[in-house]
Order: sequence, then structure tokens, then C-alpha cells
Amino acid sequence: MIKISIKGLIEVFSKLPNLGPSSSRRLVLHLLRNKEKTMIPLSQYIIALAEQIVSCQFCGNFDVISPCNICQDKKRNQKSLCVVEDLGDLWAFERGGIYSGLYHVLGGTLSAIDGVGPESLNLDGLRDRITLNGVEEVIIATNATLDGQVTAHYITELIKGSGAKVSRLACGIPIGGEIDYLDEGTLKAALVSRHEVES
Ligand code: ZN
Repeated sequence: MIKISIKGLIEVFSKLPNLGPSSSRRLVLHLLRNKEKTMIPLSQYIIALAEQIVSCQFCGNFDVISPCNICQDKKRNQKSLCVVEDLGDLWAFERGGIYSGLYHVLGGTLSAIDGVGPESLNLDGLRDRITLNGVEEVIIATNATLDGQVTAHYITELIKGSGAKVSRLACGIPIGGEIDYLDEGTLKAALVSRHEVES
């Protein structure tokens, strides 16, 4: 049983991104003042979501069902696969409404410094997914960072000979830039001007 205190909740919130101690205090104060209307529904929602959330068996996206809603959507282009590092990148494409194919979420990038090898990423099913579903184009949309580029190169080698055309996002993404932080216009420009990878 966790020892409960108001201070403890403030500390939990302080560990979240973009929330320092003072904004956490204000947040907890708001919750305490709105126990019935906000605090209880919020806590119930978080618990329910935590219990139901699953990683999609095909693409690695998070949803309350597997296959996820995107993989189940027959209106989407089943022959196009966009490989992204992270869930936030998938959300960035979806926010922009600029891509209507399917995704493959890696769950990170290869990193020599952090000791992340291919076995740590969602790569196992990628090649089979491409061949079994007759995917015609794979868009590698990893970040324009060094690790992102190394990962893109690894994937290009991994899926060589699978029959799919491989392309990468082109201009628009600044060097060192992360997809999740781009505005929709920049991301759209990068997607439209993607180029085929020599293989
Ligand atoms: Zn899925």
C-alpha cells in the first residue's frame, strides 16, 4: 500500500514533462477543490485506460484494441507503410491529416551510446508485414538525428528485396529536428518531397 499524502501527489505530478513543482501544486490544488467534478473522474479514467491500453499486434501503436483502429480502417491505403520512431510521431502525422496509409511504430531508435540494438525495437514483424500484405511503399520517417539516420539505414537493409519501394522524408526537416515538434506544414512538405532510397 502506498503512503498517501497531498505532497506525494504533487511530487508525482512534478515528475511529468513540462510540469515543475509550482505548476504541480496549482494542479493538485485545482483537483482538491474539484474533487467530484474533476479529481474522481480523472483518476477513474486514467485507471481504466491503463488497464485497457495495448500495443497493436501489427504496428505497435497504442490503442484499446488490437489490431488498432488505424490497422482496422479499410479506407486507409493498405499498400503504404510509414515507419516512425515513436507514438508521438504517428500522432504528428495524424494531426496533420496528411497521410492515409498504415504505420509501423519502432518504439525508439538504434543507439550505440545508449546500447539500443535491433532486438529492442519493433522490427521483428516488419519484413513479414511488408511481404505478406504486398506493401508497395515503405516511407521511413525517422527523425533527422544521427540515431534516426542510422536506424533508417538499418531498416533499408533489413527490407531490401521485399518488393517494396523505400523512401525517406526529404527537405523540410531541419538537421537535429524531431518530427513530434514540427508544425504540420513543414511535416507535409517533408512527406510530399520524400525521395526513393538507392538500393
Ligand atoms: Zn495497428
